[in-house]
Amino acid sequence: MKRSIGIIGIGWVGSSIAMSILQSGIADELLLFDSNTQIAEGEAMDLSHGASFYSAAEVKMVTIDEMLHADVIVISAGRAGNASESRLNLLQENAKIIRSIGAQLTNYKGIVVVVTNPVDMLTKILTEISKLPSHRVIGSGTILDTARLKQTLGKILNIDPHSVHAQVIGEHGDSEVILWSSIKIGGVELKNLKNWDITWQTKVDEEVRYAAYNIIQRKGATNHAIGLATAHLLKSILRDERRVLTVSKVQDSIKELHGIALSLPTIIGAKGAIDTLMPDMNAIEKDQLMSSANILIKAAENLDRS
Ligand code: NAD
Repeated sequence: MKRSIGIIGIGWVGSSIAMSILQSGIADELLLFDSNTQIAEGEAMDLSHGASFYSAAEVKMVTIDEMLHADVIVISAGRAGNASESRLNLLQENAKIIRSIGAQLTNYKGIVVVVTNPVDMLTKILTEISKLPSHRVIGSGTILDTARLKQTLGKILNIDPHSVHAQVIGEHGDSEVILWSSIKIGGVELKNLKNWDITWQTKVDEEVRYAAYNIIQRKGATNHAIGLATAHLLKSILRDERRVLTVSKVQDSIKELHGIALSLPTIIGAKGAIDTLMPDMNAIEKDQLMSSANILIKAAENLDRS
């Protein structure tokens, strides 16, 4: 059976997601839509010309209606922030875009992956507008922040990031929560590693939390790492891997977080977000997670719904 992925919004992020999908060989068909049809068509042409260098896949520009048979639809449409703008600042503008896309997905049978920022708020809005079950609307959430944390620590400790067991949860944004107390390498707690100095924690925290601003200041956007992270998430869905990833969804199994979309470790497979895990946390981390949730609740209250 053909594995098909649609992407809506083919800017910096959408085109990097497309490249990562093709290079990982997870799709037989890649369908691109952008409100600027010239961009979608140009990217489809450019990516198609690389066909000699990736596993067989057809890439073409389509309308949203023409991608409704896809196994997964990724949404990366909307404005990106500048270097001094928080992700939540994009909410009013990008909510309008997500509402109009969500209204076209009410009969969709596959999984939706939201990447546009602020990703948690927009995952919630898309779930509400499309009326799709919450396990079929997944925000890329803190997958990227978790990857940044593993890479930053791995570099300091001179260990491959794959072997750094660490997670970032909560909002994909300024209030995200780094779970310092559970970071382990080879079963050893970070604080007990002989080449780790606790005074480095503040610097690592800042590097991870504010990474996007630092990149946007230099090159105007972030795109490659989110492209790779999204393709990794898509692979877990299409291959029914049941990988645990820190993604966002409207939480419905944890009482204190009910109805809020934010990231927690989640089992990802062909049915979407199969189950959510509540990680072990110390008292500080629990407070930080509730503060992160409260920031998202306030943002929802202040949202202009017109
Ligand atoms: P960009 O401006 O390069 O691309 C956005 C694209 O969306 C444009 O091509 C535009 O024509 C298109 N678009 C706008 N409205 C549309 C609509 N209604 N339907 C279809 N297409 C539409 O921006 P970018 O740098 O690619 O960023 C896209 C989004 O991804 C931003 O919101 C950014 O903040 C977000 N982002 C998220 C993460 C994450 O970790 N979740 C990481 C990086 C960027």
